[in-house]
Amino acid sequence: MRYEDSPPPPESASSVSPDRPWYGRRSTLAVAVAVLAPAVLAGWVLTEALADSTADDSRPPRIVMPLAASKASGTPAAGSAPSPAAGTPAGPVASSSTGSSTSPSGSPAAAGPLAGRVVVVDPGHNTGNFKHTAEIDRQVDIGTNRKECDTTGTTTNAGYMEAAFSMDVSQRLRSLLEAQGLKVVLTHEAGPARPFGPCIDERARIGNEARADAVVSVHADGVSAGSRGFHVILPAKVKGGGADTAPIIEPSRRLGERIAGNFARTTGSAPANYLGGGTGLVTRDDLGGLNLSTRPKVFIECGNMRDAKDAAQLSSPEWRQKAAQGIADGIVGFLGG
Ligand code: ZN
Repeated sequence: MRYEDSPPPPESASSVSPDRPWYGRRSTLAVAVAVLAPAVLAGWVLTEALADSTADDSRPPRIVMPLAASKASGTPAAGSAPSPAAGTPAGPVASSSTGSSTSPSGSPAAAGPLAGRVVVVDPGHNTGNFKHTAEIDRQVDIGTNRKECDTTGTTTNAGYMEAAFSMDVSQRLRSLLEAQGLKVVLTHEAGPARPFGPCIDERARIGNEARADAVVSVHADGVSAGSRGFHVILPAKVKGGGADTAPIIEPSRRLGERIAGNFARTTGSAPANYLGGGTGLVTRDDLGGLNLSTRPKVFIECGNMRDAKDAAQLSSPEWRQKAAQGIADGIVGFLGG
């Protein structure tokens, strides 16, 4: 495998290791601050955050200042994650948790506000990307810049690929959302039809052309051991070329907050302790998949594949189901289901 062989760097936020080490590393990336609606993630500490990381449609930027470590002490521990009441009404969350693909066609969910709504789910990377480095290294236009078509993603130290993780969670997520009466489109399917990619611009285009009501790109991070937890990446306001995120900033933020709150609840995971200031939210301006989106869209980094404790969770089918449930509940809440 062409994945990182070297041991992770010392665990400090200033030495976070990206997940695609064979690519040139960009030195720094200034990041916008994720500004929270206090009511949504009440109790979570809001601080300035620098984005990292592997969300991947990009060369991984690096955290340039240790910021969250001390402040993350305010991070809710697993089990004391924010109540869904903070971000998502308990009713819809509870009902979606009990959703079933065998629900009668006349169920409230099928006939309710979710009927006919479209969700695009983007499984990050592709398990075949590492065999197609020339193709995925091709530069594509992301409006504000040019970036690689796609990247390989990271793996756990045991070799479980982020691309396999993201596809599995995405498939679970699709089942949960379809059980709620939603139409779900994946940007790519497992199997030979898609030996690599799609490119990041196509991933965005799929959501746009589907006129998706919500788009979620599923990932896991690949940073130093000891860095733990999840974070949701929100689009920054960018404009240039084919990119203009102004119309999606606000709905994407609401979508991301819903997902973060529900993900914490269903998985018991805490917001990332290495970026986002303990909020579980980060805003980035360098991701083509966000910059080119005209639909409300976020990325989620479900955990750190390079941390043994996080990796154990990410490698568990039961945990992945909880992860998919949290994302689904967040989407359903956002859509008013
Ligand atoms: Zn990724």
